[in-house]
Amino acid sequence: MNQYKLLTPGPLTTTDSVKKEMMADRCTWDDDYKAVTQDIRRRLLKLAGVSDQEYTTVLMQGSGTFGVESIFSSVIGDHEKVLICSNGAYGERMTQICDRNRISYVHYQQVYDKVPDASEVARRLEEDPSITHVAMVHSETTSGILNDIQSVGKAVKAAGRTFIVDAMSSFGGMEIPVAEWGIDFLVSSANKCIQGVPGFSFIICRRDQLLASEGKARSLSLDLLDQWKCMEKDGKWRYTSPTHVVLAFAQALKELDAEGGIPARCKRYTENNRLLIQKMKELGFTTYIDSTHQGPIITTFFYPSNVSFQFPEFYQYIKERGYAIYPGKLTDLDTFRIGNIGEIYQEDIEKLVQIIGSFLAEKRGE
Ligand SMILES: *Cc1c(COP(=O)(O)O)cnc(C)c1O
Repeated sequence: MNQYKLLTPGPLTTTDSVKKEMMADRCTWDDDYKAVTQDIRRRLLKLAGVSDQEYTTVLMQGSGTFGVESIFSSVIGDHEKVLICSNGAYGERMTQICDRNRISYVHYQQVYDKVPDASEVARRLEEDPSITHVAMVHSETTSGILNDIQSVGKAVKAAGRTFIVDAMSSFGGMEIPVAEWGIDFLVSSANKCIQGVPGFSFIICRRDQLLASEGKARSLSLDLLDQWKCMEKDGKWRYTSPTHVVLAFAQALKELDAEGGIPARCKRYTENNRLLIQKMKELGFTTYIDSTHQGPIITTFFYPSNVSFQFPEFYQYIKERGYAIYPGKLTDLDTFRIGNIGEIYQEDIEKLVQIIGSFLAEKRGE
């Protein structure tokens, strides 16, 4: 198969040293392996900037959505209700999770190019005392918009409710002071900004909130508290763990540290993103999200209007030259997306924009 780098929001391009960790087979109940899990859990708390007394972590088999569903189905009780603030497909997926699990919810649906407003959240919480939880996506990968979870968190805490954040495509790539921002449950996955491979998600939980969820779980395999009870003892996963993925993730965490931690990674991603947008604008492309709300992870561009443009042809042209990009996820507008996270540097962005420039030149018949 042809080699290409991924300019997608995860799975993304990983280092050879992360991939190499997967060449060994591990025993799930072996002490050395269990110690790796415990080390990962400690490192995640450190990245979240929280103490082991106040917070704890649970690793959960499956992709990111399994982690989101694990939280929802485990901590929102039968007589409780969640306010879901959405401005994209991942926020909307939370409503599907509620439908399947028969969890009561109200939906504050914002348009995709605007962020949910903290004062509107405060108003809804005041109006409806039966709302017990508020859930929201941080970096909405659908568009690339960055939501203001800090302001919403403040409103949620002022109203004394529980705050659930999907920080899938931002955790590890952006500073998120979890306790300060009033986050009770935060979920992300192995194959995003930490730059591991796909296979599990992780949930950073306020200990008291997690313990208070006893008896609420609707699912066995996604039972957050049950998973934690087993893992907390000695690092043993409740059911078969993705051993190769876990080893790769441990290596990815070390590489994040070696790069200079979250501040350094955030700087690289932000510079990649700034360069990408600047160079694409020079080619005549425009972005869907305005510069105030554009996040540093992924960018939505409109199709060019001055050439005949078919996404599959565009995709194939770029792929043959070494990069894979993403189709758009907006139903009503013609867009495509380019991610700039993973083992991606300025020279990749320069190369990509050159490829796109020659595609356009060929289209114009130059
Ligand atoms: C990637 C992602 C998810 C999880 O998607 P999976 O396909 O289940 O890994 C959830 N929310 C956001 C914002 C994401 O970017």
